[in-house]
Formats: sequence, C-alpha cells, structure tokens
Amino acid sequence: MRRPPRLCETMGNGSVANHPAAASERAPTGCDAEKSGKRSGLSDLEIDAPFRMLPELNGSSHFFWTSGERGELMFLHCRDCDGLIHPPQPICPRDHSKDLEPRVVSGRARVHTFTINHQPWMPGPELPYVVAIIEIEEDPSVRLMTNIVNVDPGEVRIGMPVRALFEHHADAGGDVWIPLFEPDPERR
Ligand SMILES: [Zn+2]
Repeated sequence: MRRPPRLCETMGNGSVANHPAAASERAPTGCDAEKSGKRSGLSDLEIDAPFRMLPELNGSSHFFWTSGERGELMFLHCRDCDGLIHPPQPICPRDHSKDLEPRVVSGRARVHTFTINHQPWMPGPELPYVVAIIEIEEDPSVRLMTNIVNVDPGEVRIGMPVRALFEHHADAGGDVWIPLFEPDPERR
C-alpha cells in the first residue's frame, strides 16, 4: 500500500476512481479524455484527495494509469472487432485477437449503478462518498468502478451523465493519475 499525497489535478474530461477503484489494477477505474488531448475547459480543479491504495504499474496497465497526465482516458482497443477491453490484457476476450492498442476515449460515461458509503473504512476521505460503476460512452460494456466526485451524493442517480477527471498521486513507484468521474454539465 502506498501513501498518496493530497495533491491532485483534474483535466479536460478526466475521470477519477475512488478508494475501491484505486485499490489495485484489478479494480477498474475509468475516466475519459478528449481525442487528441483537447481539453474541455476544466483545469486544475482541486479536490481533497482521499487516502488510496495505488495500483502497481506494469507494462500492460501503465498507459491506463498515466494517460491522465495528458488529461486523456485510454482503453485498450481491438482493431479486429473494434471493441474496447478493460482491464488491459494481451488477448481480446471477444475474438482472441492480439491486434490491440491503447486508444483515447472521450471521457464521457454514465452511472450504471452506485452506492453511498457512510462508513470510515479507511482514513482520509470525507464521508459520505459515492462508489459507482460507470459505463464508458464509446462501449457501454466497458465498466469501471470509481468514485463520483464534485457532487452532493444525494444527487447521484443511475443513468447520470458523467465525465472523467484525474487524481494525481506522486509515488516512488511511479506517478499515477486515477480516473474519477463528476457530473457532466454539458449533458443532462
Ligand atoms: Zn476483438
């Protein structure tokens, strides 16, 4: 378990993952980014970064945890079936293709389901907070466990449009940008 600093950053259509999501790369986190690094105007938003268990960076997941530095959310894309794959793996689960490459997505998503946590499971996060599973716009079959932030937990609803932002954690093992999500003011 690594100890994250309180520093954090958000960019364009970043996404963020909360405590459970950040626990390891087994826990999906999602966020989005605009194509070719375009930003949507949201920048340098500060949030009080809660305590998180940070993912171990490895060859196959490195892009996912670091693309937030550019304000981009990325998923592995299969050139053969055009689907997105998460978590990263060497072979497409649909057609067993190995013709895969990381692709930037919009960062737009919708809340598939969520729960509001009122229990202080770990030090740091302000209670209550929202743990959600979100569906990525480009491929709703791709879901991430994350946190919905910058919203009153009581206002979160299933189907709510959200967008990604990133929580930056500096760490000796390599900086990571955890994708979290917030309400998307451009979509209702
Ligand atoms: Zn495929």
